[in-house]
Amino acid sequence: MGLKRDESGRLHVESSLMGESLMRKRLLEETEAGALFQPLPDLAVIKLGGQSIIDRGREVVLPLLEELVTARQEHDLLVLTGGGSRSRHAYAVAIDLGMPTGVLAKLGASISEQNALMIAILLAPHGGVKIGHDDLPKLPAYLRLGTIPVMHAMPPYGLWERPPAVGRIPPHRTDVGTLLTAEVLGAHRCILVKDEKGLYTDDPKRNPAAEFIPEIAVEDLIGMDLPDLPVERAMLRALAQARSVREVLIVNGRERGTLTAALRGENPGTRIYREG
Ligand code: ADP
Ligand code: MG
Repeated sequence: MGLKRDESGRLHVESSLMGESLMRKRLLEETEAGALFQPLPDLAVIKLGGQSIIDRGREVVLPLLEELVTARQEHDLLVLTGGGSRSRHAYAVAIDLGMPTGVLAKLGASISEQNALMIAILLAPHGGVKIGHDDLPKLPAYLRLGTIPVMHAMPPYGLWERPPAVGRIPPHRTDVGTLLTAEVLGAHRCILVKDEKGLYTDDPKRNPAAEFIPEIAVEDLIGMDLPDLPVERAMLRALAQARSVREVLIVNGRERGTLTAALRGENPGTRIYREG
């Protein structure tokens, strides 16, 4: 790569992006070219819901961890954790005290990290190891050692979290963090372990007439604009634009064997997939 000075006197390092604002639409399209490196395409990226799973305590958590330990013999796993009720409490206090979204995001991250610590400790006798975001590049090495890495799932926007269109709750929380983790690792699939069979047309806890949706394209789901969802809306948008992740499964962690079935490639709950 050579150096070049343009007529205005600007100095450039010669490359395909030389002198660009990185905003020109045609140029942005061109950067789509070339193969995407996918270091861990078969990695199973699994999020244990904070409110829906971890907050329910040992009765729900311990059998799930047993399933994970057994599954580890056949699959490479990365376990992520949500925040749950304590995040909600922190958000409520922070909103009352007038905190901006970035502060709420930071609070949410520490709470999902507390959950990652507890899950990693519980898995420690079977190779559980708590990892941080900076450890992701070491993941293939950790997996080769037979470990079960556990990481908190809040994306690291922290104080720089973008304010949502409405309200103060951070729009990028642990579902979207899970999806983006899978995406950067080149994984094809995420499994979100929650406390309902999967996706319904409305919250089944509030609306008994809600209908179950076993499978849906993410674009169609975004288009339905449902009144309530079991996943963050930002996760749906991220899936629609993903290059590696092709599908997200929502499974009921309160039913024994559903996580194992999902890891085998079955759909025991709802499959949200990306077309194309
Ligand atoms: P997590 O613990 O992973 O953060 P959440 O508690 O945030 O999970 O979301 C899961 C919950 O979302 C379910 O327990 C369910 O009651 C609720 N929910 C809201 N809308 C829907 C819907 N359309 N379909 C299924 N569940 C829904
Ligand atoms: Mg949630």
